[in-house]
Amino acid sequence: MEKIYLDHAATSPLREKALEKMISTLKDVWGNAASVHSFGREARRAVEESRERIAALIGAKPGEVYFTSGGSESDTWAILCMPSGHCVTTAIEHHAAMNAFEALEKRGTRVDRVLPGRDGAVKAEDVLDRVGPDTGLVSVMTANNETGVIQPVKEIGEKLRERGVPFHTDAVQALGQIPVDVDSLGCSLLSASAHKFGGPKGIGILYIRSGTGIGNLIHGGLQQRGLRPGTEDPAGCVGMAAALEEAVDEMEDAGNRIREMRDTLIRLVRERVPDAVLNGRTEGRLFCNANIRFPGIDGSALLMRLDMEGVAASAGSACTAGVVETSHVLTAMGLTEKEASESIRFTLGRENTPQEIQRTAEIISGIVNDMRA
Ligand SMILES: *Cc1c(COP(=O)(O)O)cnc(C)c1O
Repeated sequence: MEKIYLDHAATSPLREKALEKMISTLKDVWGNAASVHSFGREARRAVEESRERIAALIGAKPGEVYFTSGGSESDTWAILCMPSGHCVTTAIEHHAAMNAFEALEKRGTRVDRVLPGRDGAVKAEDVLDRVGPDTGLVSVMTANNETGVIQPVKEIGEKLRERGVPFHTDAVQALGQIPVDVDSLGCSLLSASAHKFGGPKGIGILYIRSGTGIGNLIHGGLQQRGLRPGTEDPAGCVGMAAALEEAVDEMEDAGNRIREMRDTLIRLVRERVPDAVLNGRTEGRLFCNANIRFPGIDGSALLMRLDMEGVAASAGSACTAGVVETSHVLTAMGLTEKEASESIRFTLGRENTPQEIQRTAEIISGIVNDMRA
């Protein structure tokens, strides 16, 4: 059976270039980057070159880029370790940010969560209206992982910068799909994760604008200015840098190709299942994402049937231990629990083909019609 992977927002296949660089680094550059001898210096060079290349791609200075274990750590760090104060965020953040804010709340911090519209986007003024003199942090994701809807982060960041309020953005889904530049975003903190753009799992970055008064999440030695200690992973660093370079390089070409396939998927599905609805707006959305609701169809059952036919998609939120939670993103957008549970997320990537999309649409309509019969 031909397998079709349409779950790139969960993770993406490792890019060939990243793999090659990683293999040679794993083999030959195994020193501890903190060691002063030649083995250590070689590892240090691999780490710092990667840091420089990644920094250049997001408009940052190398000293503002900190390697972490991935998006979850970066979000947690940015949210838990800023000086205390009232916080403003949205109701559609990734679990990493959402649960970090819940932890903050349990410690007594006041957290405001802004709701999106039915289109999946929050309004910049709704976020800015909540900001007061005691606000210590605003966190709004660049693009949502379930709907792909791009949030008005530039507008928010610009205003917050004028007001001197620290702004964090989770750019994990956005990086490699839309231009991400820390200055035009006006952010003080930005999270990214390598495996979402064809890099390895287990590595990401937190961008920290110099002068941002963030404390440690991880305690240890003096690595990364003592702010994010722990022995660095040269192979992960070079893999992330190589993947990001290629992702940014081909963003326009691959983006146009993927967007066209995504639009075709939506069109073909609607032709065959006329009452299927796209969740979230059509414009201002990442090129990879189609989040579709099939009225009257149980999403997790559909997902399982799709898997049996070789099509890998997602029910939006990850399912934990076989239990699919209702998506907090879709319900925040105003969908009922039932409507949210009828929704499936398809996220396309560079290795998908128009033939796969054609085949997926046929498989979907076959299953949906069968489930309805
Ligand atoms: C995947 C994802 C994360 C978590 O990143 P990991 O590297 O998997 O921990 C955080 N935020 C968003 C928006 C994501 O899509």
